Amino acid sequence: MIRKLLRRVFKRPANAIPTEPAIIPVDQHGVTSKQISSAARKVCSVLQEKGHKAYVVGGAVRDIMAGQTPKDFDVATSATPEEVKAAFRRSRIIGRRFRIVHVMSGPETIEVSTFRASQDAETAETDEHGRILRDNVFGSQAEDATRRDFTVNALYFDPTTETILDYHHGVADLKQKTLRMIGDVRTRYREDPVRMLRAVRLGAKLGLSIDPAARGPIREMSELLENVPPARLFDEMLKLLLSGHAVNCLKQLREEGLHHGLLPLLDVILEQPLGERFVWLSLDNTDQRVRQGKPVSPGFLFATLLWHEVLANWEARKARGESVYPALFEAMDEVLDRQAGKLAITRRIVGDIKDIWALQPRFERRNGKAPYRLIEQARYRAAWDFLRLRAESGEIDTSVPDWWNQFAHANGTEREAMMHGGPADGAPRKRRRRRKRSAGAKSEDAPAGDAT
Ligand code: ATP
Ligand code: MG
Repeated sequence: MIRKLLRRVFKRPANAIPTEPAIIPVDQHGVTSKQISSAARKVCSVLQEKGHKAYVVGGAVRDIMAGQTPKDFDVATSATPEEVKAAFRRSRIIGRRFRIVHVMSGPETIEVSTFRASQDAETAETDEHGRILRDNVFGSQAEDATRRDFTVNALYFDPTTETILDYHHGVADLKQKTLRMIGDVRTRYREDPVRMLRAVRLGAKLGLSIDPAARGPIREMSELLENVPPARLFDEMLKLLLSGHAVNCLKQLREEGLHHGLLPLLDVILEQPLGERFVWLSLDNTDQRVRQGKPVSPGFLFATLLWHEVLANWEARKARGESVYPALFEAMDEVLDRQAGKLAITRRIVGDIKDIWALQPRFERRNGKAPYRLIEQARYRAAWDFLRLRAESGEIDTSVPDWWNQFAHANGTEREAMMHGGPADGAPRKRRRRRKRSAGAKSEDAPAGDAT
């Protein structure tokens, strides 16, 4: 209470809202309207013609200036959601608390939000740690700029004049490759601890160094992430892992001590040499695919991140005499349950993860009808990719994925020959012994694709 009162009396200058932005011409920032999607340009011009302010804002402007291709285009405007909706036939208002408008144009959807006020801990509804629960009051453009997290995210590009309105020296920061927080750093992290993760992700993605003032408090404040709803953490973690810079991001997270709060099991996994190798290999693989524009599966990625924990749990159960498949399924559930408390992986992705894990022991059976059934599984390819990563990381012999690759591409007679090829099948000895032991458990009929 007293602190709140003091803050009200001695309002920090860091929170002061600048009224006049710098107006930066195109020759100083290099963003042209050609680089903006036609849909976003149209949204801005239609709103402007109706007398409203409208700008492309946020990640898109920042990414173009940094020489990267933006994922999507967001528009910020002085028009209310109702006014925006009325201006575009194909549009709808979404969100109950803070309403934004989706404007559809061809295959594109442009997210249009009305300028929002920057709320501080005195006026906003917060939890007991200072985390802002609602952020839903309309405001001026200057206020809208000030409630954004980093200076490089608070640039307003006007496609009509090709100027950038810059309230917080974001253009200069971007040129100097610095990620700087708007306002008082600690307050901003308290209001929304996810900003710590965003700092790491945006720094890695754009090659910016986090300003020491913003970097400094992360370590000591990292535990605030525990109060963030698990679904929100999952969204942010997914963005981070699919950013094309996952390796760098995770290294940085580790350096800042942030990984403790996120993937609680990752702590443990990264301590084991095999697990660590597996995780880095998988992240590196994902980064390369993202950068080549190839699709990546979040299920596959999370399956790799948590695999060594499942493996340890599974081995322990088998050592206690549980049979192979039930032990695996129990291990999978236990690991996923523990994970869910911190970071809520969506149900669909959990299904994908389980499919991939559940198919792994089936690669150990290379006789009878089992191999034919396995290669027909819908998730065979993902499961095989996973198997290959396990081999690359040294967990199993590389001859195992090699055998399956050969088998999957062979014709009927070649397959017959491979089955009777004896030692040429190259299964690691340890695995083979286990296979014999489990043969009595009718493991070949274990459910796989229907693991959820
Ligand atoms: P990317 O789209 O590459 O993930 P982004 O910065 O565009 O990055 P979005 O989540 O799309 O991220 O957010 C759009 C804009 O909204 C940001 O550029 C920033 O101005 C603002 N913003 C997003 N998250 C926050 C936050 N946690 N605190 C303050 N402002 C935020
Ligand atoms: Mg964005």
